[in-house]
Amino acid sequence: MSPDNRQRVLTVEALRVAYGGIPAVSDITFHVDAGELVGIIGPNGAGKSSALLGLVNAVRSESAQASLRGTDLRRLAPEKVARSGFALVMEGHQVFGRLSVRDNLRLGATARRARAGLTADLDWIHELFPILAEFADRPAGLLSGGQQQQLAIGRALLASPTLLALDEPSLGLSPTAVDTVFEAIQRIRERGTAVLLVEQRAQQTVKSADRTYVLTEGRLTMTLSPTDADDSALLMKAYLGS
Ligand code: ATP
Repeated sequence: MSPDNRQRVLTVEALRVAYGGIPAVSDITFHVDAGELVGIIGPNGAGKSSALLGLVNAVRSESAQASLRGTDLRRLAPEKVARSGFALVMEGHQVFGRLSVRDNLRLGATARRARAGLTADLDWIHELFPILAEFADRPAGLLSGGQQQQLAIGRALLASPTLLALDEPSLGLSPTAVDTVFEAIQRIRERGTAVLLVEQRAQQTVKSADRTYVLTEGRLTMTLSPTDADDSALLMKAYLGS
């Protein structure tokens, strides 16, 4: 195995998703390496959610390659994809509203491959999002949108994933809650979990990510680096495809 391969966490080659014959994602190729935070940005309907859902086999997809640290994801049931180390936090801070915050977190542990390190991970998640310790007994449905997003991310982290994929984690949150989520993502990456961040919030994503792919109309059209974040003309062009 070459040093390059050892570092690769996610490899995606020619991924396609279509609904009733209409393409939503057309032959996208990208990768995430160990320790990286990689962004995918794009406007409404660009195919961002479909790409993630296709990767975890929650919708039908085709690809030349889709592998997580050498495990071929393509024929795995979604729960097996999760167990292989691919944690996906779906759009809309999804939590089990009637269950307590503590029980929501516990559910995350069911996708763990090893019990070792569980207490340390839980302590770290509580340090990352102190509100989850403070409101441990509260039904998750009573938390604010930003707090529910913290819980959804915390639950995914308790699975001890190799890759954490987040679908528009900032959607519908207050500006302060958005900052909390973006700061947490940096800390998660610094602790050693690779992150795939799918967002509409272009500037903040390009600034934080090591590399950001632009997805428009189902195709990857551009790759941006953090230094591009302040080039608003470039970001506009990336979005409008002109
Ligand atoms: P958003 O930011 O609005 O979530 P997105 O970039 O995540 O957008 P997708 O939700 O993946 O984009 O949608 C890509 C295309 O696929 C759109 O044209 C959308 O209408 C279509 N689409 C998404 N889900 C379905 C579905 N279940 N059935 C049919 N078409 C769908």
